[in-house]
This record gives sequence, C-alpha cells and structure tokens, in this order.
Amino acid sequence: MRLVSYLSADGPRIAAVRGERYIDLSASGLPSSMRALLALGDDGQKRAARAAAEGPEIDPAAIKKLLAPVPDAQKVICVGLNYADHARETGGTPPDEPVIFNKFPTALIGHGEAIVLPRVSQQVDYEAELVAVIGRRGRDIPRARAYEYIAGYCPGHDVSARDWQTGKPSRQWLLGKTFDTFGPCGPAIVTKDEVADPCKLGIRFRLNGETMQNSNTDQFIFPVDELVAYVSQVCTLEPGDLIFTGTPPGVGVARKPQVFLKPGDVAEVEIDGLGLLRNPVVGA
Ligand code: ZN
Repeated sequence: MRLVSYLSADGPRIAAVRGERYIDLSASGLPSSMRALLALGDDGQKRAARAAAEGPEIDPAAIKKLLAPVPDAQKVICVGLNYADHARETGGTPPDEPVIFNKFPTALIGHGEAIVLPRVSQQVDYEAELVAVIGRRGRDIPRARAYEYIAGYCPGHDVSARDWQTGKPSRQWLLGKTFDTFGPCGPAIVTKDEVADPCKLGIRFRLNGETMQNSNTDQFIFPVDELVAYVSQVCTLEPGDLIFTGTPPGVGVARKPQVFLKPGDVAEVEIDGLGLLRNPVVGA
C-alpha cells in the first residue's frame, strides 16, 4: 500500500494511492493525519488497505499539492556516513558507531515542492537517501525486533549546505542540514509488506536528468534494524518519526569540480520499488 499526505482546502489530509488515483480514507472513519493513522498500528494499516481497495476516489482538483508523507513528524533523525562506498569517497574510515544528527520538521517538504536555496549559503548539495518511517512507539528496541517498529519507507533527500555543515565553529552539522525545505521526502510511504528487503534497493540521484549517485542500500554500514536499535537506546521512537539512513557516493562536494544546486535545477531521488521524488530548486 502507498500512503500520501496532501493539502486540501481544509488542511492536510491523507490518501491511499491506487494506480494513478488517490483514494479517500476518511470515508472509512480513519484519521485524517498520517501520524494518527500510523499510531493505530497494524490494525490501522489493515483498515486502510481495505479502504484503499473500496473507498471513493478523491477529485484530483481537491488535491492542492502533495505534502511530505508525515508533514508533522516529531523527530527527523539522520545518519551520516552510512554507505561503505561513500565513506571511501570522503576519505574517512567507516565509523564504529552510527553518526547521528537531525533536521527540524520545518525542513520537510513533499514531492513537487521547491527546495529554496538560502541567501546565506553558496554550497547547497544533494544527498539521495532511503527514509524509514516508524510505525510503533518504542524505547530500547532490540535489533531482532526492530522491523516490527517500522511502518514503511520512502525516498528522501538530505539537502545539505556544506558551508554551514562543516564551516562553522565546532563543525556542528545541525544548521547546515535543517534550513527550511532541506528535507524533501515522498511521494508516498510504501508499507513494509511491499518491501522485501530495505537493505537491498537500488538508489539513484539525478540532477537535471544526469545521474550523480547510483548505488544500492546493500552498501549500508549500519542496516535499518541496527539504526532503530541504536537510536532507541537514547530516545523513545514515535509513530511518524523519520530516519534518513545516509547517502551513497557521488555528492557534489566530493566531485572535481564541485557541483552545488542552483536555481532552475531539478533534483530527483529514485529508489527501486519506492518511487521517484522530484523537487525543483529555486532561489530565496
Ligand atoms: Zn545525509
């Protein structure tokens, strides 16, 4: 099942995707927000799947735009240097433990929304990423049970202002990663029953149609279940929390010459089985 959040005349709503059409779930008495639906757990997903098969189609004119699948996620957790091939590209040795940072939810945008280049950065870079969506509340989750806590996956884009990520005192990554619009994800959450192995998916980034990153999540240094277990030692994971799982090689800052996003660019993240996330790039 594919689940989206969209903007209606009455605010954010959710829908299931059936082919090219969007199916109204609210007619089946399901919640209107993705976080609330995810919080219903497996039962909510079963009800949503039934509604997706039988429910009424939404008039396309009622969909003003797609939003990030969880537009109000409480936590946006990100992982640095998680691909063996990307770690080699940056010249570093693979880390012994996950490198964790975060974005604020105000960075989240959906498929089709514009990435806005901030006036205060000259080095905005792209990073294609698999995003895991948490479906169940948990703390100290054992690795062997970690997938029970995941609802599904979607393509994500960890837009990164390199001059703010590493060029400021103490080299704290947060600000460079959390400018507004720096967290595109979507178009839809693909529920985990449709993803045989999240750690075996082709992942690509295209800039204006040119392939810049082309790898596979089988390069993960820390697989998804290990990330869930690691982070949940520290904080309670909640339905709708997002984990951006790191990026493969080919980022702009590591190229010679370097490549950074500019107004008029089109950024595309594509992951096998999860779809295509496309965002135009505009100036502030
Ligand atoms: Zn990243």
